[in-house]
Amino acid sequence: MSKHDLKIVAEKLRTAASVAVLTGAGISAESGLATFRDPDGLWQQFRPEELANVNAFLSNPSLVQLWYQSRRRASVEAEPNPGHLALVQLQQRWNSFTLITQNVDGLHKRAGSTNVIELHGNILRNYCIDCRREATLSLDASEISRCLVCGGLIRPDVVWFGEQLPPAAISRAYDAASSADAFLSIGTSAVVFPAADLPIAAKRNGSFVVEINTEETAISSMVDVSLRGQAGAVLPALLRTLDEVTV
Ligand code: NAD
Ligand code: ZN
Repeated sequence: MSKHDLKIVAEKLRTAASVAVLTGAGISAESGLATFRDPDGLWQQFRPEELANVNAFLSNPSLVQLWYQSRRRASVEAEPNPGHLALVQLQQRWNSFTLITQNVDGLHKRAGSTNVIELHGNILRNYCIDCRREATLSLDASEISRCLVCGGLIRPDVVWFGEQLPPAAISRAYDAASSADAFLSIGTSAVVFPAADLPIAAKRNGSFVVEINTEETAISSMVDVSLRGQAGAVLPALLRTLDEVTV
């Protein structure tokens, strides 16, 4: 992340009337939550795709439940980091600011972000696979939980591999991405569709697209500027640079 690149981004943001942001697991990495590319030790023998799908759940609900319980507890115990907090500060500078997240940990809302679209659901919510009623699940439940009304299996309210995203959420996300003057793609490998299409849609509609990531990603070659580094360092630096260009 060079000072020069930060300045270019800050100048563009200063003149943008609307801003959209897409975040992925990388923004929560500094809160201690494992990304999918960097699995936590306990679950290293499984690929997330093997657990985060409906067939895995139906064939071994206890295993999938155990994985989600461990991620759920980690999410509750985690605290928002300087990256989440910087996005709360950023949101206050625009009337039109939309935060689209692929994360299911709820940390953006806990940090204080308001206009948040949770594209892949929220790990703290659960529902019955049969009657679809929302169900509460204790954080220490170790047995597979069943619906108190119909006895159906309780699953997390997240979007699994092979499932459709909530239509209202993806449509709002596309609207925000394609009308944004500036678009920030933060801590996402940009390989899970349709979320990964949002920066592309933004670019197609003339948005200035910036990536913030520790590594190169699938969209690095098409973005206007790549700010390499940890979101928790780059975003506060961007805020400081914005203050410098606006005085
Ligand atoms: P991903 O694991 O595919 O990619 C994470 C990206 O973050 C990588 O490109 C990595 O280089 C980058 N990164 C790591 N640390 C970073 C840091 N400190 N600052 C900036 N970038 C950093 O995750 P994804 O792109 O979000 O997509 C896959 C799926 O992962 C999504 O469906 C999401 O729901 C799910 N997921 C969510 C959580 C969570 O809610 N915390 C955790 C794991 C996975
Ligand atoms: Zn039920």
